[in-house]
Amino acid sequence: QTSAAEAGAVLRIDLSAVRENYRQLQSRLGSTRCAGVVKADSYGLGAVQVAKVLAKEGCDTFFVAHAGEGLTLRAALGQGPAIYILNGTPPGAEAETAAAGLTTVANSLEQLAAWREAARAAGRKLPVALQVDSGMSRLGMMPSEVETLAADASLLDGLDVVLVMSHLACADEPENPANAAQKQAFDQLRAKLPAAPASLANSSGIFLGPDYHYDLARPGAAIYGINPTPGHANPMREVIRLEAKVIQTRTLDKDIGIGYGHTFRTTGQLRAATISLGYADGWHRRAAAGAYFNGVRLPFIGRVSMDSIIIDISALPEGAVKAGDLVELIGSHQTVDDVAGHAGTIGYEVLTGLGHRFHRIYE
Ligand code: PLP
Repeated sequence: QTSAAEAGAVLRIDLSAVRENYRQLQSRLGSTRCAGVVKADSYGLGAVQVAKVLAKEGCDTFFVAHAGEGLTLRAALGQGPAIYILNGTPPGAEAETAAAGLTTVANSLEQLAAWREAARAAGRKLPVALQVDSGMSRLGMMPSEVETLAADASLLDGLDVVLVMSHLACADEPENPANAAQKQAFDQLRAKLPAAPASLANSSGIFLGPDYHYDLARPGAAIYGINPTPGHANPMREVIRLEAKVIQTRTLDKDIGIGYGHTFRTTGQLRAATISLGYADGWHRRAAAGAYFNGVRLPFIGRVSMDSIIIDISALPEGAVKAGDLVELIGSHQTVDDVAGHAGTIGYEVLTGLGHRFHRIYE
């Protein structure tokens, strides 16, 4: 953890907003259980901190992408909650994964065979989640693999099927016919498998309505404040606030080139500040946004550098901003989704890209 004095920027993570977002999703889901997707270190915000908050809210099921993430989470949470490895266990890591009480998601008959072998070696039954490919064509057993599995019960020897799941490709587009097609394919595929709790919805999937909820939902983004209903008002609470320190200020005359490539030239006298945040901190170079100070927007001028950005502070009274002051980059005036819009990307990439040079404050 970088100290407040050492760091160029401060990242505040509002765990009460995380808690509120989880509660909202759980209440939308009614009797469907709400898991927490905490892969990629909870989309960059801290898997252990977030999972502990969710566990207190009664969340007993977590999803990570990698076995290593699962081992870290297991050590932090103890033996209670179920932890699923979405990418499946990499070849060779099965024994360690099983010993830690993690549940693999079998995405292929090959992964299933390796997990079956791990159960045999461990001399006990192991839980397994079966992921079927209902149309995203990324991960999961293809319909032909599901047929093979349906025809040979011995392929599940030593295994306890605790979940049958699939993932939606277009859930953030409610009108997209792929959603209903995937739901139908999911229902047909899981009918061929042993009866087990079912899971289909990510954050946006929850907002497609109860038909998509099944027994367990798997939201990530909405817990972290990303809008699960693009094109509509964000029903979730913002979770992060990112502030950067002012390094220095200067007054520039007319017709001065600013930053790399002199992509900006002053057209009159201008007061500028240089702030301590750049693309090495995960700020997209293309995100030519603004900073905020006391609610006033201070536009970026010139290119984003590796460790610094130049902003126009002429809108503020002289002396209002000085070295060491913090300006806001993400927060109430400019959300994660806004920054993503400026960068031509999605909120997920902005969040997961935020670096580790910040002083982090959990509140
Ligand atoms: N389920 C699976 C299989 C995923 O890959 C993801 C994340 O991409 C999620 C659930 C959570 O999705 P979201 O962050 O959109 O809620």
